Amino acid sequence: MPGKPKFYLTTPIYYTNGLPHIGHTYTTIVADVIRRYKRMRGFEVVMTTGTDEHGVNVERAAKKAGIPESEFVARMAAAWRGLWDELGLTADEFVRTTDLQHVRTVQWLFRLCRENGYVYKGHYTGQYCIYDNAFVNDAKRGDNCPDCGRPTETVTEENYFFKLSAFQQPLLDFYKKNPDFIQPETRRNEIVSFVEGGLKDLSITRTTIRWGIPVPGEEPHVFYVWFDALTAYLSAVGGPEYEQRGMWPADVHLVGKDIIRFHTVYWPAFLMAAMLPVPKQVWAHGWFLMDSSKMSKSKGNVIVPRPIANMLGMDALRYFLLREVVFGQDGNFSYDALVTRYNSDLANGLGNLASRTAALLEKICGGQIPKPMERKPQDEALAKETQAAIGEVLENYENMSFARALEAIWSAIASADKYLTTEQPWALSNSDQEQSRKATILWTTAELLRIVTVLAHPVLPVSTAKIWTLLGLPGSVAAVELDGLRWGQLAPGKQLGKAQTLFPRVEKNEAIERIEAMANEERNPAPAAKPTASATPAGAAAVPQAAPEKIGIEDFAKVEMRVGQIKTAERIVGADKLLKLTVDIGTEIRQICAGIAQYYEPEKLIGRKVAVVVNLAPRKLRGVESNGMVIAAAVGPEGRPVLAGFPDEDVEIGSRLK
Ligand SMILES: [Zn+2]
Repeated sequence: MPGKPKFYLTTPIYYTNGLPHIGHTYTTIVADVIRRYKRMRGFEVVMTTGTDEHGVNVERAAKKAGIPESEFVARMAAAWRGLWDELGLTADEFVRTTDLQHVRTVQWLFRLCRENGYVYKGHYTGQYCIYDNAFVNDAKRGDNCPDCGRPTETVTEENYFFKLSAFQQPLLDFYKKNPDFIQPETRRNEIVSFVEGGLKDLSITRTTIRWGIPVPGEEPHVFYVWFDALTAYLSAVGGPEYEQRGMWPADVHLVGKDIIRFHTVYWPAFLMAAMLPVPKQVWAHGWFLMDSSKMSKSKGNVIVPRPIANMLGMDALRYFLLREVVFGQDGNFSYDALVTRYNSDLANGLGNLASRTAALLEKICGGQIPKPMERKPQDEALAKETQAAIGEVLENYENMSFARALEAIWSAIASADKYLTTEQPWALSNSDQEQSRKATILWTTAELLRIVTVLAHPVLPVSTAKIWTLLGLPGSVAAVELDGLRWGQLAPGKQLGKAQTLFPRVEKNEAIERIEAMANEERNPAPAAKPTASATPAGAAAVPQAAPEKIGIEDFAKVEMRVGQIKTAERIVGADKLLKLTVDIGTEIRQICAGIAQYYEPEKLIGRKVAVVVNLAPRKLRGVESNGMVIAAAVGPEGRPVLAGFPDEDVEIGSRLK
């Protein structure tokens, strides 16, 4: 199709050691919204998602499930794909990093980088956990393994290195020439100063991992994490033959802010080294944090999307996630806010306007779109306002300001409600003059409804399609061209379509209870009734934890644990996950860092009694000294920390745990 511009966007290629939660769902929803929006603006769009299926964590999880890795990842990929389908988020390309096409692409990219002189063989030295058979990233000599807590050993292995250091200046030049490459602005500044600080060469292969893409002719080397995973964006649209499809370079990679560095430093450097086109933009969004108190007390607070979709519909979840936070910033997720918005904006807002308008058309105009007659200034004003909203909404979609786009749409909906309430078409008589006035009012309202329906379609695909049918409009709302959308296009004389259930109001507490009950069932499926059992490997949703070998009591006695009380707690700049605590352990007050910042508000921790390992050698975390360790359970697939504690509060500070 000549002339149709192309647009290629991606979600991250999600790692398959767990199942999708609200964070993955958010990114995938945003990608789907952009895809729908771009299509309505005349683009040929490809959206890619997929599963990252290599590495030591998969090796371990497969071993635990007692199945070969290939079978484990096939089941995981099916589970991810199945959920996206169920949620109406089917991507155009679903790439698995075990696909042959992807394997070929990684090997090809490596060959190009090597031919161009950016790959060399060297030695990688790092801290290695013998028990887990894995290097521990960023660990220093003497550090323990974060997974199993055992001491790590310093191990050196032969690796292939990528000359990342050669790309410091090319990357800085590239950022300068392409100021929109990294979004939002704050992330851009972070990355620029990171690169300005100097780049170290990057180890891109391993010989200690078995489950990976082999480096051709160099076995047992396999590619390591990023060289493998990032390349999936390219293999999804043709790999070595990318030019045929015409989709590369990508227009935008959507990523969580935790992986922006890999996407804006490593990835463009790999491509530059191979002399391949670099993506146009990387957009990092924030995280949804849990509404602390209520959620953390339930059994694991990883929010899963299916129960919400079942209870309120996917449109409600999409609307909430995009409306609630500014894209790029962190937001708070709570069921309370979700249901509140559902009732106020969807049930009472768009849903009510649609059913009210349809009922009035039915009653007053015989179920037809009337012909507008003489217009009054208030009709003109509403027309003008709505026409202006079109421009505003499109501009905000274009800038990924989804919350603002929705705000503008909902402000038009509020204007329509107000207009109806003021004009009161139901109170007018059947005189000729008032009949024609009624026709004008209802045509005006229906026209506004048509326009907001089109504008809201990228975010609310299911319900806007229903409103389209309700209004008896031709074709599908998805096929409307946004660039041609104008006030005044609603043709009179059309018969209304079938009535539609849009957003039935829900009672908040009941809705929340039901969502939570469904979520609990999903997290802890009853053994007899496991609807997704075939698609979900055993233990995949739980934290993979092989049974450790037994230890004697004398080993246990080496660990000294005591009851401590938290005296102060504060966040650490530059370490999103850590809190700096001072803890009274009876004999002294210790400074301890704990990786709980994403789940615990510092203020709420003060005075809390916790279990502390007091004889752990002091270590530095992100440059902050930590002298001891606070004990927490790792819950759910994400390993959410839940502090071990003493709710009865009558334990003495300093008491030893035995
Ligand atoms: Zn370990």
